Amino acid sequence: GAAAPALVVTGLGKRYGGVQAVDGISLELAAGERMGVIGPNGAGKTTLFKMIAGDVAPTTGTIELFGRDVTHMSTAPRARLGVGRTFQVSNLFRDMSVLDNVRVAARGGSSKARAFWRTQGMTDDVTRESILMLDSLGLTGRRDDTVADLSHGEKRQLEIAMALVSHPSILLLDEPAAGLSAAERATLRQLIEELPRTLPILLIEHDMTLALGLTDRVMCMENGRHVVTGTPDEVREHPTVKEIYLGRR
Ligand code: ATP
Repeated sequence: GAAAPALVVTGLGKRYGGVQAVDGISLELAAGERMGVIGPNGAGKTTLFKMIAGDVAPTTGTIELFGRDVTHMSTAPRARLGVGRTFQVSNLFRDMSVLDNVRVAARGGSSKARAFWRTQGMTDDVTRESILMLDSLGLTGRRDDTVADLSHGEKRQLEIAMALVSHPSILLLDEPAAGLSAAERATLRQLIEELPRTLPILLIEHDMTLALGLTDRVMCMENGRHVVTGTPDEVREHPTVKEIYLGRR
């Protein structure tokens, strides 16, 4: 039969005191699909991401990864199931070198990654794989610098390198373009475009142009609720999306 979808979210909700941050969101990400989630500040995108990544427990609804219910599973076992993710607030080791950050990420990660490292045997292979990952993301020249010396854009690239080096089966990106310059955005866009098409990606992004340019399907949310899901063209032309993004209210 057909492979289970990478991700199925059903009726997901999160309430913080009196605030319904996410209200009954459902979505499905097929194997190899790239989906964007857009919406204005406070729409609930980050809360949705945190529930899917396992940082925050939902108030209602369920989350399935590769056909398994992970609604009540914490982040570490989700990583072992193959979740690679970035962090909106940086999770980097500031005083360590760029390479050592990637090596730390390479040693942890999914069961797939650990199986890979077992076949490779040596710690030196962790280093080699980490170097190759930095090369492929254009960070070769930064390998031995400390994270504190990186630009904001390079830090975001490094976070993606750390998510990818664990050989994830699904990649969750949390507003990767936040705070980036136009040039850094272009680099990031190319980096994401060049990722393997077999890797399913959920991209949470405030920047509508970036999100629509990189994904097969997009969901727009506002005030915790679903507004529309469709192709980038359908979402771009949706009257409510136009109102939200052009401020015509
Ligand atoms: P942004 O683009 O600004 O990150 P967002 O779409 O990611 O916005 P969320 O950060 O998910 O939106 O916030 C959705 C709503 O939930 C907001 O009203 C926010 O104030 C509220 N909220 C989020 N986290 C918490 C929390 N830990 N405690 C209380 N309220 C919260």
